[in-house]
Amino acid sequence: MNKGKLIIISGPSGAGKGTVLAEVFKRKKDLKYSVSATTRLPRPGEVDGLQYFFITKEQFEEKIRRGEMLEYAVYCDNYYGTPSDFVELQRMQGLDVVLEIEPCGAMQVMEKCKDALSIFILPPSMEELERRLCGRGTESEAVVAARIGKARSEMEQKDRYGYTVVNDDVIRAAEEIIKIIDK
Ligand code: 5GP
Repeated sequence: MNKGKLIIISGPSGAGKGTVLAEVFKRKKDLKYSVSATTRLPRPGEVDGLQYFFITKEQFEEKIRRGEMLEYAVYCDNYYGTPSDFVELQRMQGLDVVLEIEPCGAMQVMEKCKDALSIFILPPSMEELERRLCGRGTESEAVVAARIGKARSEMEQKDRYGYTVVNDDVIRAAEEIIKIIDK
C-alpha cells in the first residue's frame, strides 16, 4: 500500500482557509484533518479536540521536549503545533492528511518531508482580507491589528509553496485544491 500524501495548507488569517477547507472535506470524505495543539484560548463555539487541542504552555513545552511535534511555531504570542503520531498513523494506512498551518511550521514540514504537497491560499485582495479580519468581531482591536500585520508578512512567503490558490470563490478554490491533491 502507498503511504498517504501529506498536504500543507497555509494562508493568512482571513483568506478564508477554513471555509475552503470545509468544502474540500465535504467533497473528499477519505481526507483526514490533522487537529493541531495550541495554547491560545478557544473562540466561542470551538470545541477541544475538534478545531484544536487546547493545552497550556507547560503542556506544549513538554510535548516539544518529548519530540512529539512534527512542527511548531509561535503565532501572535501563542504556540501552535502538529502532533506527529496522528499524521504518521493515517499516512501509514494510506490516507491523505491535511495540515492547516502557518508558514514557519510549513517550512519545517517541507524540510522534513520532501514529498509533501504545499498550497498557499490567497485572498482575492489585501483590501478584502482586511475587511474580513475587521468584520470577524471575535477579537479585540489590538489582536485584529496584529493579525493584519502578520497576514502581510505571511503573504510574502507564498512563493515558497508548490501551489497558490486564490479564494475568489469558495467552490472554485476547493475544486482547484482537490485537483492538486488528486494529481
Ligand atoms: P487561528 O488562531 O486563527 O486558529 O490560527 C492562527 C494561525 O495558526 C493560522 O495561520 C493557522 O493556520 C495556524 N496554525 C494552526 N495550527 C497550526 C499548527 O499546528 N502549526 C502551525 N505552525 N500553525 C498552525
